[in-house]
Amino acid sequence: MRDPRYDILFEPVPFGPLTLRNRFYQVPHCNGLGANLPYSHAAMRGVKAEGGWAAVCTEILSIHSSSDSTPFPQVKLWDADDERSLRLLTDAVHEHGAYAGAELAHGGWAVANRYTREPLLSPIDIPSRRDPIQARAMDKADIAEYRRWHRRAALRAKAVGFDIVYVYAADDLELLQFFLSRRRNHRQDEYGGVLANRTRLLREVIEDTKDAIGDTCAVAVRITIDEMSGPDGICAGSEGRDIIASLAELPDAWDVKVSGWSNDSESSRFKQEGYQEPYACYIKQVTTKPVIGTGRFTSPDTMVSQIKRGILDVIGCARPSIADPFLPKKVEEGRLEDIRECIGCNICVSTYNLGAPINCTQNPTIGEEYKRGWHPERYRAAGSADAVLIVGAGPAGLECAQALGRRGYQVHLAEAGRELGGRVLRESRLHGLGEWIRVRDWRAGQLDRMANVSVYRQSVMTAADVLAMQVPTVILATGARWRRDGFGRRNHKPVPTEPGAIMLSPDDVMDGVAVAGPVLVFDDDDYYMGGVLAETLRRRGLDVTLVTPSALVSAWTVNTLEQEKIQRQVLEAGITVIANNNLAAVRPGTVDLACVFTGRRQSVAAASVVLVTARRPQTELYDALASQVGQGAGASALRTLLRIGDCFQPGTIATAVFGGRRAAEGLDQPNADIIGFRTEPVATERPLSHATPHLRAAE
Ligand code: ADP
Ligand code: SF4
Repeated sequence: MRDPRYDILFEPVPFGPLTLRNRFYQVPHCNGLGANLPYSHAAMRGVKAEGGWAAVCTEILSIHSSSDSTPFPQVKLWDADDERSLRLLTDAVHEHGAYAGAELAHGGWAVANRYTREPLLSPIDIPSRRDPIQARAMDKADIAEYRRWHRRAALRAKAVGFDIVYVYAADDLELLQFFLSRRRNHRQDEYGGVLANRTRLLREVIEDTKDAIGDTCAVAVRITIDEMSGPDGICAGSEGRDIIASLAELPDAWDVKVSGWSNDSESSRFKQEGYQEPYACYIKQVTTKPVIGTGRFTSPDTMVSQIKRGILDVIGCARPSIADPFLPKKVEEGRLEDIRECIGCNICVSTYNLGAPINCTQNPTIGEEYKRGWHPERYRAAGSADAVLIVGAGPAGLECAQALGRRGYQVHLAEAGRELGGRVLRESRLHGLGEWIRVRDWRAGQLDRMANVSVYRQSVMTAADVLAMQVPTVILATGARWRRDGFGRRNHKPVPTEPGAIMLSPDDVMDGVAVAGPVLVFDDDDYYMGGVLAETLRRRGLDVTLVTPSALVSAWTVNTLEQEKIQRQVLEAGITVIANNNLAAVRPGTVDLACVFTGRRQSVAAASVVLVTARRPQTELYDALASQVGQGAGASALRTLLRIGDCFQPGTIATAVFGGRRAAEGLDQPNADIIGFRTEPVATERPLSHATPHLRAAE
């Protein structure tokens, strides 16, 4: 039963010619499935609709071949093939009673057109963001063409079945935002200069879109209200407000956010839930149209508060809807404890940035709905009545236990420690990673309510203990430990060390081993651990030097949109950063470094060295049990022994959770010979001619 406190979240919202069934709205978000994986994309969005969102939107949907984000996965609305593949999506969304939204987009000079090789378009002549080419200043004919493309795309979106059509001017990724911002628009004509001129194209495109499809579709404007770039850019208190005030009643809804993407999709290391409120709080004062906003909302109380205080009308969610596609249903059914809260790690963003289909730490089923037939809430019934023993309650063991529990297996979960959580328990105590404990909390909460799952804490399992339990299926999730010898990504043998040198691992620091300063943190891992440990030790008052062979601190976090923020925070904390240097030798009190380019040596004073390099899978239990498989007789003899998570392949928390789920889903399935999932159908028709460019009449 729903708590009446949350009734307001389920009020219908008039939305142009439509009415949203509630205030939960899956705003556009990237997912790396794109036009190449249309069945996967449709299935993923369909599950969101099933989860109760009133509207489910696409990500950036390119309207023309001059906006091509290759190599980043993209959806597009260029031709009849695109229409067919997007029809899969609108059908999937409609099947569950939600509206489908299309975020029509043109990337201007933010894209590189590497596939289409079309010239880049921009309000002004300006270097491309990524490649050594420039974008061309649009003349009046270009502007007219752009308006024609947008209008045509709006009509196509309607024909394909979209209910909401976006005019998009946000994320520092969109032509319309570049026209709005005086940082990027230095034109002298009626499309540049004073704000009314810079707003002209946005106004025209909204009018075009309303005129084209506004009779039956809602026209929403997604817009940057603060570019977070100082007074030169759009600022919430001045032009951000003025733009919306000047167009206030023109669209059917305002979807507002800050830009660029790293400011919009802040990780939990830097911002808490609701962080966009200071920027969005004035929008409802200048328009009567529904206002949608985001802020990594996972708590229905925060959502209610935003609505009651007149900040937002509609709760926009991207990451919270990825981590839990059924968030609205769970609030509606009064199952708040079942909400799988986003941890703000931005692994979802990283997969897109790496050109890959979406992954999520909390929701291992995202992107797997079509491919593997997984569902975030539904599980196949158990294929046998056998009991399963899982050893280790880190993210892999916990996920495996909850999924097998949901499948109906009799599960025994043994954990050496007093508390569950494994690495997330330890890592969430480090500076900035507190929200990551949600990985443990959700799973532990689920297990608590399953009568068929028994959890044994403080139970260090030996091979004899495992065999004594007489369980035919044993799954080991015993994790990994960081190495202390320097072996890692760049150094494939231990680093030369003199007796008396103090070498520590991240596990030592997390275990509370005393660290003497000055301390040198050597980061050969490039993800969060090196930077986080440097900050954690600095906050204890130690002098810290962070050394990395990479050019940047925590270089891989470029993919999670955190790198610049991490490096700024590390520098501001007073940590000395030495980049482009490898570890050459560790002596008592001194570390020798070598430049990765020249080999030139330098020495740094360090009483202790923390090595963030590589991890060793904990395989002792597996090694001791492997020879026992199939040895005994009878139903309780050990028949299946599996390793999952970091004890199988050390990786991210997301890979450990995924490994846990995969083991649970596949337990009673035959092993796939070549490929364990469903691929997408590919076109097999031959093109009409190889000699003549195949221009399509519909263009
Ligand atoms: P993963 O990321 O793969 O889930 P973790 O390192 O987070 O791995 O978790 C592994 C968990 O396994 C830890 O909580 C650890 O205490 C537990 N563990 C390791 N060895 C044993 C064992 N022999 N018996 C019981 N628990 C174990
Ligand atoms: Fe949230 Fe992390 Fe999942 Fe993204 S990957 S939705 S940030 S939990």
